[in-house]
Amino acid sequence: MQYSVPDYYKEFSCLADKCEDTCCAGWQIVVDKKSLKKYKEETGDYRKKLKKAVDFRNETFRQDNNKRCAFLKENNLCDMYLNLGPDSLCKTCRMYPRHVEEFENVREITLSVSCPEVARILLSKKEPVIFLSKEREGEEEYEDFDPFLYSQLVEAREVIRGILQDRSKALEVRALLVLGLAHDMQGRLQRGELFACEEVWNKYRSKKAETFAEEKVKGFYDGIGKRYACSKKFYDCLCGLELLRSDWDMLLEEAGIVLYRSGRRFYDILLEDFGIWIAKSDLDLTTQCEQLLVYFIDTYFCGGVYDGCVFDKVNMAVASVFLIYELLAVIWDVQNGRIDFSDVVKMVYRFSRELEHSDSNILKAQKWPSLLQFL
Ligand code: SF4
Repeated sequence: MQYSVPDYYKEFSCLADKCEDTCCAGWQIVVDKKSLKKYKEETGDYRKKLKKAVDFRNETFRQDNNKRCAFLKENNLCDMYLNLGPDSLCKTCRMYPRHVEEFENVREITLSVSCPEVARILLSKKEPVIFLSKEREGEEEYEDFDPFLYSQLVEAREVIRGILQDRSKALEVRALLVLGLAHDMQGRLQRGELFACEEVWNKYRSKKAETFAEEKVKGFYDGIGKRYACSKKFYDCLCGLELLRSDWDMLLEEAGIVLYRSGRRFYDILLEDFGIWIAKSDLDLTTQCEQLLVYFIDTYFCGGVYDGCVFDKVNMAVASVFLIYELLAVIWDVQNGRIDFSDVVKMVYRFSRELEHSDSNILKAQKWPSLLQFL
Protein backbone atom coordinates (compact mmCIF):
# COMPACT_ATOMS: atom_id res chain seq x y z
CA MET A 1 0.00 0.00 0.00
CA GLN A 2 1.29 3.43 -0.92
CA TYR A 3 0.78 6.43 1.38
CA SER A 4 1.41 9.99 0.27
CA VAL A 5 1.45 13.28 2.15
CA PRO A 6 2.40 16.87 1.22
CA ASP A 7 5.88 17.93 2.34
CA TYR A 8 4.49 20.31 5.00
CA TYR A 9 2.47 17.51 6.64
CA LYS A 10 4.76 17.10 9.64
CA GLU A 11 4.80 20.81 10.41
CA PHE A 12 1.19 20.62 11.59
CA SER A 13 0.33 20.41 15.23
CA CYS A 14 -3.09 21.34 16.63
CA LEU A 15 -3.15 24.68 18.49
CA ALA A 16 -6.02 23.47 20.73
CA ASP A 17 -7.11 26.30 23.05
CA LYS A 18 -4.70 28.71 21.29
CA CYS A 19 -6.56 28.29 17.99
CA GLU A 20 -8.15 31.49 16.67
CA ASP A 21 -11.24 29.64 15.38
CA THR A 22 -11.73 26.17 16.81
CA CYS A 23 -12.94 23.39 14.54
CA CYS A 24 -15.26 22.16 17.32
CA ALA A 25 -17.90 24.80 16.59
CA GLY A 26 -19.96 25.85 13.62
CA TRP A 27 -20.77 22.46 12.13
CA GLN A 28 -22.21 19.18 13.25
CA ILE A 29 -19.61 16.55 14.15
CA VAL A 30 -20.69 13.15 12.82
CA VAL A 31 -19.74 10.24 15.09
CA ASP A 32 -18.68 6.84 13.72
CA LYS A 33 -20.47 3.66 14.85
CA LYS A 34 -17.46 2.25 16.72
CA SER A 35 -17.17 5.35 18.88
CA LEU A 36 -20.92 5.44 19.50
CA LYS A 37 -20.72 1.86 20.79
CA LYS A 38 -17.82 2.83 23.05
CA TYR A 39 -19.76 5.81 24.43
CA LYS A 40 -22.82 3.62 25.05
CA GLU A 41 -20.74 1.09 26.94
CA GLU A 42 -18.93 3.64 29.15
CA THR A 43 -19.58 2.73 32.76
CA GLY A 44 -17.50 5.27 34.70
CA ASP A 45 -18.43 8.68 36.12
CA TYR A 46 -18.36 10.23 32.66
CA ARG A 47 -21.32 8.15 31.47
CA LYS A 48 -23.84 10.86 32.44
CA LYS A 49 -22.07 13.54 30.41
CA LEU A 50 -21.82 11.24 27.38
CA LYS A 51 -25.54 10.49 27.54
CA LYS A 52 -26.30 14.19 27.55
CA ALA A 53 -23.82 15.34 24.93
CA VAL A 54 -24.06 12.56 22.34
CA ASP A 55 -27.06 12.42 20.04
CA PHE A 56 -27.10 8.64 19.57
CA ARG A 57 -30.08 8.71 17.22
CA ASN A 58 -28.59 11.18 14.75
CA GLU A 59 -25.02 9.94 15.39
CA THR A 60 -23.64 13.38 16.15
CA PHE A 61 -22.38 15.42 19.10
CA ARG A 62 -24.97 17.85 20.41
CA GLN A 63 -24.29 21.60 20.17
CA ASP A 64 -25.21 24.61 22.27
CA ASN A 65 -27.08 27.63 20.90
CA ASN A 66 -23.84 29.04 19.53
CA LYS A 67 -23.21 25.83 17.59
CA ARG A 68 -20.33 24.86 19.88
CA CYS A 69 -19.82 21.14 20.46
CA ALA A 70 -21.32 20.04 23.78
CA PHE A 71 -17.87 18.78 24.87
CA LEU A 72 -16.12 22.07 24.12
CA LYS A 73 -15.28 23.90 27.33
CA GLU A 74 -15.30 27.66 27.64
CA ASN A 75 -11.50 27.69 27.36
CA ASN A 76 -11.82 25.79 24.02
CA LEU A 77 -10.42 22.52 25.35
CA CYS A 78 -12.30 19.26 24.85
CA ASP A 79 -13.96 17.96 28.02
CA MET A 80 -14.08 14.37 26.75
CA TYR A 81 -10.36 14.44 25.86
CA LEU A 82 -9.51 15.78 29.32
CA ASN A 83 -11.62 13.15 31.10
CA LEU A 84 -11.26 10.05 28.95
CA GLY A 85 -8.03 10.71 27.06
CA PRO A 86 -7.16 10.88 23.34
CA ASP A 87 -8.42 7.37 22.53
CA SER A 88 -11.96 8.40 23.42
CA LEU A 89 -12.23 10.80 20.46
CA CYS A 90 -14.45 9.80 17.54
CA LYS A 91 -12.93 9.26 14.10
CA THR A 92 -13.84 12.74 12.84
CA CYS A 93 -12.07 14.44 15.78
CA ARG A 94 -9.08 12.09 15.65
CA MET A 95 -8.56 12.62 11.94
CA TYR A 96 -9.27 16.34 11.45
CA PRO A 97 -7.69 18.25 9.71
CA ARG A 98 -6.33 15.22 7.88
CA HIS A 99 -8.25 14.37 4.72
CA VAL A 100 -7.86 10.91 3.21
CA GLU A 101 -8.65 10.00 -0.38
CA GLU A 102 -8.80 6.25 -0.85
CA PHE A 103 -7.85 4.41 -4.03
CA GLU A 104 -6.90 0.80 -4.67
CA ASN A 105 -3.61 0.25 -2.79
CA VAL A 106 -3.19 4.00 -2.32
CA ARG A 107 -4.01 6.44 0.49
CA GLU A 108 -3.51 10.11 -0.29
CA ILE A 109 -3.48 12.12 2.92
CA THR A 110 -3.74 15.89 2.79
CA LEU A 111 -4.36 18.55 5.43
CA SER A 112 -7.50 20.65 5.12
CA VAL A 113 -6.98 24.41 4.86
CA SER A 114 -10.25 24.82 6.78
CA CYS A 115 -7.96 24.59 9.83
CA PRO A 116 -6.36 28.03 10.48
CA GLU A 117 -3.01 26.44 11.38
CA VAL A 118 -2.89 24.40 8.16
CA ALA A 119 -3.86 27.48 6.14
CA ARG A 120 -1.06 29.42 7.86
CA ILE A 121 1.52 26.71 7.11
CA LEU A 122 0.52 26.31 3.47
CA LEU A 123 0.28 30.04 2.76
CA SER A 124 3.65 30.72 4.40
CA LYS A 125 5.34 28.22 2.12
CA LYS A 126 7.45 29.83 -0.59
CA GLU A 127 8.73 26.73 -2.39
CA PRO A 128 6.45 24.65 -4.63
CA VAL A 129 4.77 21.88 -2.65
CA ILE A 130 5.98 18.36 -3.31
CA PHE A 131 4.43 15.06 -2.26
CA LEU A 132 6.22 12.36 -0.30
CA SER A 133 5.28 8.71 -0.75
CA LYS A 134 5.95 5.65 1.35
CA GLU A 135 5.21 1.99 0.72
CA ARG A 136 3.81 -0.04 3.57
CA GLU A 137 2.85 -3.67 3.74
CA GLY A 138 -0.64 -4.63 2.70
CA GLU A 139 -2.60 -4.91 -0.52
CA GLU A 140 -6.24 -4.47 -1.34
CA GLU A 141 -8.49 -4.93 -4.31
CA TYR A 142 -11.48 -2.77 -5.12
CA GLU A 143 -14.46 -3.88 -7.12
CA ASP A 144 -15.28 -1.51 -9.97
CA PHE A 145 -11.96 0.32 -9.75
CA ASP A 146 -10.37 1.36 -13.03
CA PRO A 147 -6.58 1.15 -12.46
CA PHE A 148 -5.82 2.41 -15.99
CA LEU A 149 -7.93 5.55 -15.55
CA TYR A 150 -6.39 6.11 -12.11
CA SER A 151 -2.85 5.84 -13.51
CA GLN A 152 -3.76 8.35 -16.25
CA LEU A 153 -5.19 10.72 -13.67
CA VAL A 154 -2.08 10.45 -11.49
CA GLU A 155 0.07 11.23 -14.51
CA ALA A 156 -2.20 14.10 -15.56
CA ARG A 157 -2.04 15.51 -12.04
CA GLU A 158 1.76 15.52 -12.23
CA VAL A 159 1.57 17.48 -15.48
CA ILE A 160 -1.02 19.88 -14.01
CA ARG A 161 1.13 20.41 -10.93
CA GLY A 162 4.15 21.03 -13.18
CA ILE A 163 2.25 23.70 -15.15
CA LEU A 164 0.81 25.34 -12.01
CA GLN A 165 4.25 25.50 -10.40
CA ASP A 166 6.03 26.89 -13.46
CA ARG A 167 6.73 30.37 -12.11
CA SER A 168 8.14 31.63 -15.41
CA LYS A 169 4.50 32.08 -16.51
CA ALA A 170 1.82 34.40 -15.10
CA LEU A 171 -0.47 32.52 -12.70
CA GLU A 172 -3.55 33.34 -14.79
CA VAL A 173 -1.86 31.76 -17.82
CA ARG A 174 -0.99 28.64 -15.80
CA ALA A 175 -4.58 28.41 -14.57
CA LEU A 176 -5.96 28.71 -18.08
CA LEU A 177 -3.54 26.06 -19.40
CA VAL A 178 -4.67 23.51 -16.81
CA LEU A 179 -8.33 24.30 -17.51
CA GLY A 180 -7.69 23.68 -21.21
CA LEU A 181 -5.78 20.48 -20.47
CA ALA A 182 -8.56 19.13 -18.25
CA HIS A 183 -11.18 20.08 -20.84
CA ASP A 184 -9.33 18.16 -23.58
CA MET A 185 -8.77 15.24 -21.26
CA GLN A 186 -12.46 15.14 -20.37
CA GLY A 187 -13.35 14.96 -24.06
CA ARG A 188 -10.96 12.05 -24.58
CA LEU A 189 -12.25 10.29 -21.52
CA GLN A 190 -15.80 10.54 -22.82
CA ARG A 191 -14.77 9.28 -26.26
CA GLY A 192 -12.80 6.40 -24.74
CA GLU A 193 -9.50 7.79 -26.11
CA LEU A 194 -7.56 8.12 -22.89
CA PHE A 195 -4.61 6.21 -24.35
CA ALA A 196 -3.82 9.36 -26.41
CA CYS A 197 -3.43 11.67 -23.40
CA GLU A 198 0.32 12.10 -23.85
CA GLU A 199 -0.54 14.33 -26.84
CA VAL A 200 -2.76 16.51 -24.63
CA TRP A 201 -0.06 16.95 -22.04
CA ASN A 202 2.54 17.90 -24.60
CA LYS A 203 0.12 20.33 -26.22
CA TYR A 204 -0.46 22.26 -22.99
CA ARG A 205 3.25 22.34 -22.17
CA SER A 206 4.06 23.89 -25.56
CA LYS A 207 5.00 27.48 -26.37
CA LYS A 208 2.04 27.69 -28.77
CA ALA A 209 -0.44 26.90 -25.98
CA GLU A 210 1.26 29.42 -23.71
CA THR A 211 0.97 32.20 -26.32
CA PHE A 212 -2.68 31.31 -26.95
CA ALA A 213 -3.41 31.36 -23.19
CA GLU A 214 -1.65 34.73 -22.82
CA GLU A 215 -3.92 36.23 -25.50
CA LYS A 216 -7.04 34.84 -23.83
CA VAL A 217 -5.98 36.11 -20.40
CA LYS A 218 -5.34 39.56 -21.88
CA GLY A 219 -8.85 39.58 -23.35
CA PHE A 220 -10.30 38.54 -20.01
CA TYR A 221 -8.70 41.47 -18.17
CA ASP A 222 -9.03 44.18 -20.81
CA GLY A 223 -12.12 45.82 -19.32
CA ILE A 224 -14.74 44.75 -21.86
CA GLY A 225 -16.75 43.00 -19.20
CA LYS A 226 -15.63 39.36 -19.35
CA ARG A 227 -14.08 39.40 -15.90
CA TYR A 228 -17.09 41.24 -14.48
CA ALA A 229 -19.54 38.71 -15.97
CA CYS A 230 -17.42 35.85 -14.66
CA SER A 231 -17.16 37.43 -11.22
CA LYS A 232 -20.93 37.94 -10.95
CA LYS A 233 -21.67 34.41 -12.11
CA PHE A 234 -19.31 32.81 -9.60
CA TYR A 235 -20.45 35.11 -6.82
CA ASP A 236 -24.03 33.89 -7.46
CA CYS A 237 -22.77 30.30 -7.44
CA LEU A 238 -21.07 30.90 -4.10
CA CYS A 239 -24.27 32.39 -2.66
CA GLY A 240 -26.12 29.27 -3.85
CA LEU A 241 -24.15 26.95 -1.55
CA GLU A 242 -25.56 25.55 1.67
CA LEU A 243 -24.69 28.04 4.41
CA LEU A 244 -22.68 26.61 7.30
CA ARG A 245 -21.91 29.73 9.32
CA SER A 246 -24.02 32.86 9.62
CA ASP A 247 -20.99 35.19 9.58
CA TRP A 248 -20.23 33.85 6.10
CA ASP A 249 -23.61 35.09 4.90
CA MET A 250 -22.72 38.57 6.18
CA LEU A 251 -19.45 38.48 4.27
CA LEU A 252 -21.23 37.45 1.07
CA GLU A 253 -23.72 40.27 1.47
CA GLU A 254 -20.92 42.76 1.98
CA ALA A 255 -19.06 41.37 -1.04
CA GLY A 256 -22.16 41.80 -3.23
CA ILE A 257 -22.39 45.45 -2.21
CA VAL A 258 -18.68 46.25 -2.54
CA LEU A 259 -18.11 44.48 -5.84
CA TYR A 260 -21.29 45.23 -7.76
CA ARG A 261 -23.02 48.23 -6.16
CA SER A 262 -21.88 50.66 -8.86
CA GLY A 263 -21.66 48.48 -11.94
CA ARG A 264 -18.81 47.24 -14.06
CA ARG A 265 -16.71 50.38 -14.16
CA PHE A 266 -16.43 50.56 -10.38
CA TYR A 267 -15.67 46.83 -10.22
CA ASP A 268 -12.87 47.20 -12.79
CA ILE A 269 -11.31 50.13 -10.89
CA LEU A 270 -11.53 48.31 -7.55
CA LEU A 271 -9.89 45.16 -8.88
CA GLU A 272 -7.24 47.13 -10.72
CA ASP A 273 -6.36 49.19 -7.64
CA PHE A 274 -6.27 46.04 -5.53
CA GLY A 275 -3.94 44.35 -8.06
CA ILE A 276 -1.59 47.37 -8.00
CA TRP A 277 -1.57 47.43 -4.19
CA ILE A 278 -0.91 43.69 -3.99
CA ALA A 279 1.98 43.94 -6.45
CA LYS A 280 3.65 46.60 -4.27
CA SER A 281 2.90 44.89 -0.95
CA ASP A 282 4.94 42.29 0.94
CA LEU A 283 2.12 39.78 0.49
CA ASP A 284 3.13 37.14 -2.01
CA LEU A 285 -0.44 36.52 -3.10
CA THR A 286 0.61 34.92 -6.40
CA THR A 287 2.55 32.18 -4.61
CA GLN A 288 -0.28 31.75 -2.12
CA CYS A 289 -2.81 31.35 -4.94
CA GLU A 290 -0.49 28.82 -6.61
CA GLN A 291 -0.30 26.80 -3.39
CA LEU A 292 -4.09 26.87 -3.15
CA LEU A 293 -4.57 25.73 -6.73
CA VAL A 294 -2.18 22.83 -6.14
CA TYR A 295 -3.99 22.06 -2.88
CA PHE A 296 -7.41 21.80 -4.56
CA ILE A 297 -6.02 19.74 -7.44
CA ASP A 298 -4.15 17.37 -5.13
CA THR A 299 -7.17 16.86 -2.93
CA TYR A 300 -9.85 16.31 -5.55
CA PHE A 301 -8.49 15.63 -9.05
CA CYS A 302 -7.91 11.87 -8.79
CA GLY A 303 -11.41 11.43 -7.34
CA GLY A 304 -12.33 11.63 -11.05
CA VAL A 305 -11.62 7.90 -11.16
CA TYR A 306 -14.98 7.37 -9.41
CA ASP A 307 -17.21 9.77 -11.37
CA GLY A 308 -15.29 10.46 -14.58
CA CYS A 309 -15.60 14.25 -14.04
CA VAL A 310 -12.03 15.50 -14.31
CA PHE A 311 -12.72 18.92 -15.83
CA ASP A 312 -15.20 19.79 -13.07
CA LYS A 313 -12.52 19.30 -10.43
CA VAL A 314 -10.05 21.62 -12.14
CA ASN A 315 -12.81 24.15 -12.79
CA MET A 316 -13.75 24.09 -9.09
CA ALA A 317 -10.10 24.61 -8.11
CA VAL A 318 -9.64 27.63 -10.39
CA ALA A 319 -13.07 29.12 -9.55
CA SER A 320 -12.36 28.76 -5.82
CA VAL A 321 -9.05 30.59 -6.03
CA PHE A 322 -10.63 33.24 -8.27
CA LEU A 323 -13.35 33.78 -5.63
CA ILE A 324 -10.89 33.87 -2.72
CA TYR A 325 -8.94 36.60 -4.58
CA GLU A 326 -12.12 38.64 -5.16
CA LEU A 327 -13.21 38.28 -1.53
CA LEU A 328 -9.78 39.50 -0.45
CA ALA A 329 -10.30 42.55 -2.67
CA VAL A 330 -13.53 43.15 -0.73
CA ILE A 331 -11.75 42.94 2.65
CA TRP A 332 -9.03 45.25 1.30
CA ASP A 333 -11.66 47.81 0.29
CA VAL A 334 -13.56 47.54 3.59
CA GLN A 335 -10.30 47.95 5.56
CA ASN A 336 -9.47 51.18 3.68
CA GLY A 337 -6.96 49.69 1.29
CA ARG A 338 -5.08 47.29 3.56
CA ILE A 339 -4.86 43.57 4.15
CA ASP A 340 -2.18 41.49 5.78
CA PHE A 341 -1.16 37.84 5.97
CA SER A 342 -3.66 37.06 8.72
CA ASP A 343 -6.51 38.36 6.51
CA VAL A 344 -5.43 35.96 3.75
CA VAL A 345 -5.24 33.02 6.19
CA LYS A 346 -8.65 33.87 7.60
CA MET A 347 -10.29 34.17 4.20
CA VAL A 348 -8.84 30.85 3.08
CA TYR A 349 -9.98 28.86 6.09
CA ARG A 350 -13.41 30.48 6.12
CA PHE A 351 -13.89 29.78 2.42
CA SER A 352 -12.71 26.20 2.83
CA ARG A 353 -15.04 25.60 5.79
CA GLU A 354 -18.04 26.65 3.72
CA LEU A 355 -17.03 24.74 0.62
CA GLU A 356 -15.25 21.64 1.88
CA HIS A 357 -17.21 20.81 5.00
CA SER A 358 -20.42 20.10 3.17
CA ASP A 359 -20.66 17.20 0.73
CA SER A 360 -23.51 18.92 -1.06
CA ASN A 361 -21.43 22.10 -1.48
CA ILE A 362 -18.51 20.17 -2.93
CA LEU A 363 -20.87 18.47 -5.39
CA LYS A 364 -22.52 21.77 -6.31
CA ALA A 365 -19.15 23.47 -6.84
CA GLN A 366 -18.16 20.71 -9.23
CA LYS A 367 -21.19 21.62 -11.31
CA TRP A 368 -20.39 25.33 -11.48
CA PRO A 369 -20.30 26.73 -15.03
CA SER A 370 -17.09 26.34 -16.99
CA LEU A 371 -14.73 29.26 -16.56
CA LEU A 372 -13.68 28.80 -20.17
CA GLN A 373 -16.99 30.23 -21.37
CA PHE A 374 -15.99 33.68 -20.05
CA LEU A 375 -12.83 33.92 -22.17
S1 SF4 B 1 -8.96 24.23 13.69
FE1 SF4 B 1 -6.96 23.15 13.56
S2 SF4 B 1 -5.60 24.15 15.05
FE2 SF4 B 1 -7.74 24.78 15.50
S3 SF4 B 1 -8.44 23.37 17.08
FE3 SF4 B 1 -9.07 22.48 15.11
S4 SF4 B 1 -7.36 21.14 14.41
FE4 SF4 B 1 -6.61 22.43 16.11
